[in-house]
Amino acid sequence: MKIFITNDDGIHAEGLLALYRVLSNGNEVMVAAPDSERSAEGHGISLQRPLRKALHSSPDKQPWYAVAGTPADCVKLGLLALFEDRPDLVISGINAGVNDGINVLYSGTVAAAREASLYGIPAMAVSMTAGRPGYYETGAALARLLADRIDSLRIPPYTILNVNVPDLPLSEIAGIRFGGLDMTRPGDWVEKREDPRGREYFWYGYQKPAVTEKSGTDREVLNRNYVSITPLGCDMTDYHFLENLKQTNPERLFEELLATGRDSLS
Ligand code: MN
Repeated sequence: MKIFITNDDGIHAEGLLALYRVLSNGNEVMVAAPDSERSAEGHGISLQRPLRKALHSSPDKQPWYAVAGTPADCVKLGLLALFEDRPDLVISGINAGVNDGINVLYSGTVAAAREASLYGIPAMAVSMTAGRPGYYETGAALARLLADRIDSLRIPPYTILNVNVPDLPLSEIAGIRFGGLDMTRPGDWVEKREDPRGREYFWYGYQKPAVTEKSGTDREVLNRNYVSITPLGCDMTDYHFLENLKQTNPERLFEELLATGRDSLS
C-alpha cells in the first residue's frame, strides 16, 4: 500500500517518526510535513507567498519533504506536485496533543486529513492525548492496525476518521469506542503581558474542560482511557436545520430585501 503521512508538529516531530517506523514495513511511505510546527493553524493554505520545499533525510535515508507551508499545503503539494503516485491512504499524525471536541476546528492535524479527503483519498488523523506524549508506540500500533484494515472500514467520500489515543502503554488502554464530538467549551482566557519594551501583548491560555456529563462522546471515553474514533464529515451543511430553514419562504425574504433596498435609496 502507498501511504502519505504528514504531521502539523513539523518534519522533526517525534510522532511523525513513530508513524513512519510502524508503517514503513511492507508499505511505501511518502512524507511531506511543515518545516516547523504549525499546530492549531487549521485548514489554511498559502496564497500570498511561495511554497518552498527542502529535502530532509529520514533515519533510513528516504527522502522526506519539509515544506514552508501549512499542514493542508503539505497535503496539496504532495498530491499535486511532489509524489508521482497517488497514495491509497493519508495519515496525519501522530500529533502531540488531543484533538477532540471543538479542537478539531482549529487542528492542523485534522485539516491535513480533511484536505486528503477532499481529493477522494481515505484519510485519518491520529493524536495522543498528552502534549508531550510518552507512549507514541500505542498510537502507532493503532494507526498500523487501522491502515491495514482501511478497506474494510469503508470510509465514505468526504469523511475522515479522527482518532485520539490515551497516552498510556497499550496494556492500560481500556478499549476502543466510536462516538461523536464533545462540544463543551474548554476553559480559555487571554493573558495580557508586557514585552521588555513595555508594550502589551496577548497569549491564549487553555484549560481542559471539566468532565462532560454526556456519555459516549470523544472526551468522555478518553477520560475513561478508551481510544476514541469519530467520523468527521467535510460537508459542513447542517441538513437537519436545512429542512427547517426551508419552511421560511425565500421569495418573501427577497421581496423584503428589495423593499429595504428601495427604502435605503430614497
Ligand atoms: Mn500539532
